[in-house]
Amino acid sequence: MVAGSGAVRAHPTRGGPCYVVTIDGQNLIFDCGRCAVHNLSRFGLPVETVSEVFITHLHFDHICDLPLLLLLSWNNGRTRTLPIVGPRGIAAFLEQGLRQAYAADIKSRVEHSKKNPTHLEWITTELTKEGICRETETYKIDTLITRHAGLLNFSYRLTTTDKVIVITSDSEPDPRLVEFCRQADLVLIECSGTKEFYASKDWGGWHMTPEDIGRMMHEAGAKKVILKHLVIENFSPDPHISESMAATIRALHPAGEIVVARDGMRLTV
Ligand SMILES: [Zn+2]
Ligand SMILES: [Zn+2]
Repeated sequence: MVAGSGAVRAHPTRGGPCYVVTIDGQNLIFDCGRCAVHNLSRFGLPVETVSEVFITHLHFDHICDLPLLLLLSWNNGRTRTLPIVGPRGIAAFLEQGLRQAYAADIKSRVEHSKKNPTHLEWITTELTKEGICRETETYKIDTLITRHAGLLNFSYRLTTTDKVIVITSDSEPDPRLVEFCRQADLVLIECSGTKEFYASKDWGGWHMTPEDIGRMMHEAGAKKVILKHLVIENFSPDPHISESMAATIRALHPAGEIVVARDGMRLTV
């Protein structure tokens, strides 16, 4: 499920990055950006049912709701320590942005409502290099590092016995994404804007154009491609700009199904 199809700026219909993969009865969420907690609840997934969190990178639009998710799930009755996988620095972010920032609140709840402080806990796995970051009897999750604004960042590839789902980080175009997305059943890929749009922004070089995506997904043979992280919608006067980007990708990858994400979109792979 797409819990948030947007990006940095507030948008009336798009929350920040957050995608849910439900597998083996577990809800894995990838990124936890603006409105993630609200949207998870809105689309029928209370935060206390999140089983594990995977973070692509430490830009605030991908992590700003993570302290809230931990606090609220604790408030709502979570008793399990929540596993969180992310780039080096995610542990310090949570120590400072949650444990220290909310110290007075946590103390108050523990002392006055007798909440168990151990139930707030989380355990971080900090990634510093590529490789398999999770492996169970039924699936594994592999990672890829690409370039993006000087931040260590990870795209994730979830493989079962017969299906492949890829969730990209924000990223510059990278030929290694082709192999990473090879024959994927579903690729959730960032498509922040067009070449012309990027040329007007000092951060334009951090992201992929529809042409980059079309070429890479065609070479990879990706079956279904969902466009996410639609920054351009906050700037463009054209209400159909995302559909235009999808059309550009479709022309380069006609065998693939190209879809613009929307909040609440559910897919079965
Ligand atoms: Zn972003
Ligand atoms: Zn970013």
